[in-house]
Amino acid sequence: MVTIRLTNSKTRKKEDFVPIDPENVRMYVCGPTVYDRAHLGNARPVVVFDTLFRLLRHVYGPGQVTYVRNFTDVDDKINAEALRRQKAGSPGTLEELIHQRTEETIAWYHADMDALGALRPSMEPRATEFIGQMIAMTEGLIASGHAYAVEGHVLFRVRSYKDYGKLSGRSVDDMIAGARVEVAPFKEDPMDFVLWKPSSGQEPGWPSPWGKGRPGWHIECSAMAHELLGESFDIHGGGLDLLFPHLENEIAQSACAHPQGDFAHYWLHNEMLQVEGKKMSKSLGNFFTVRDLLDQGIPGEVIRFVLLMTHYRSPMDWTAEKARQAEATLRKWRTATASVVASAPLAEVVEALADDLNTAGALAALHAAAGEGDWAGVKASAALLGLLADGLGGWATAPQVDLSMQTEQLASLRAAAMASKDFSAVDALKAALVAAGVEVRMSKAGVELVPGPDFDPAKLEALQ
Ligand SMILES: [Zn+2]
Repeated sequence: MVTIRLTNSKTRKKEDFVPIDPENVRMYVCGPTVYDRAHLGNARPVVVFDTLFRLLRHVYGPGQVTYVRNFTDVDDKINAEALRRQKAGSPGTLEELIHQRTEETIAWYHADMDALGALRPSMEPRATEFIGQMIAMTEGLIASGHAYAVEGHVLFRVRSYKDYGKLSGRSVDDMIAGARVEVAPFKEDPMDFVLWKPSSGQEPGWPSPWGKGRPGWHIECSAMAHELLGESFDIHGGGLDLLFPHLENEIAQSACAHPQGDFAHYWLHNEMLQVEGKKMSKSLGNFFTVRDLLDQGIPGEVIRFVLLMTHYRSPMDWTAEKARQAEATLRKWRTATASVVASAPLAEVVEALADDLNTAGALAALHAAAGEGDWAGVKASAALLGLLADGLGGWATAPQVDLSMQTEQLASLRAAAMASKDFSAVDALKAALVAAGVEVRMSKAGVELVPGPDFDPAKLEALQ
């Protein structure tokens, strides 16, 4: 069996992955808060952990891996959007408008991530379906002295957990100095964080021993992971931006609530994404959602390919040039593998992925195999990366470019050349088209231009 090696944030080392139970390998990944469309940065962990899910299924068997990714469907940002709609005149109670917003956002999320070729996780629990478990966990933490109730709130007593800060490698005092902690007068210590908070008026709330209220964000993941994967499971994943405070708080809650278990054994974090060398932000005008890119005609498979070009632990840069390269490569591979029966995945590709999910290395191995013409191997290995799948290929066969202008131009140059017997202009345009990857077919019947596997739209644009 292939040995998978993963860089464990908990130990800061690359380690052999040894599952607790090879018959049921368990992974939890922090999912989205469903208040708006997923932006491109949100897509990175989805593709990273989908690739890990695929690798685990390849090594341990498709039925032997349980992948849980939650939906946070109770959050102040969701409430704010529902309230905005109500004020704008939308019919329905606030509760109904909240429900409407989370339902539509989950449907968008599914559609957008499906377009990237991400498999749906084994389970996608919604926080609001596990409120009972969150209350029970909170009660347990109070009983064991790790939490306290005050003024309708329940707070986690950070200093009661000696390992707090270990995952992110900071001391509690450093965190107080560096973090923007909310200093509420009822807190025993500024670092203490909310497990439960009161809901007023129309805010979504559930009855609890501390009055009507709702859970804090961090307790959701701890309660759902425990309910669905048990006290100890294999892998916990998420974006590096979640390390503090979210993941640090998740560990503290779970370790204190279930001291006999050890929560997750391997912690994996993907680095962040930039756009053309800059942080993605609305003020820079380089902020876009996955849907924006899909609507611009960039196929989901191309987006996936670009995300896989960078190792998950390195910051990655989204550029239009990379998307162009990825599209040209996929078009070529799709054409070449269209009628090929996949063999087994190439050892080089499996080895690269098993080495801490080296997707860049796996793509390099695919390029090498393509160079040697091993298309059966390319097809099988690409599947392991979620590429060249049947359902994703519609874009590659769809007419992608309008060559009518160039066709007309070439036809009229040819007509003029017939009269003048000077074919230099025809030859020059023909050469430029061929250099752009266009197949030029000239016959008595006329001129026909067909984009070939090496078609390069940028070179074609340069002709105009
Ligand atoms: Zn989480």
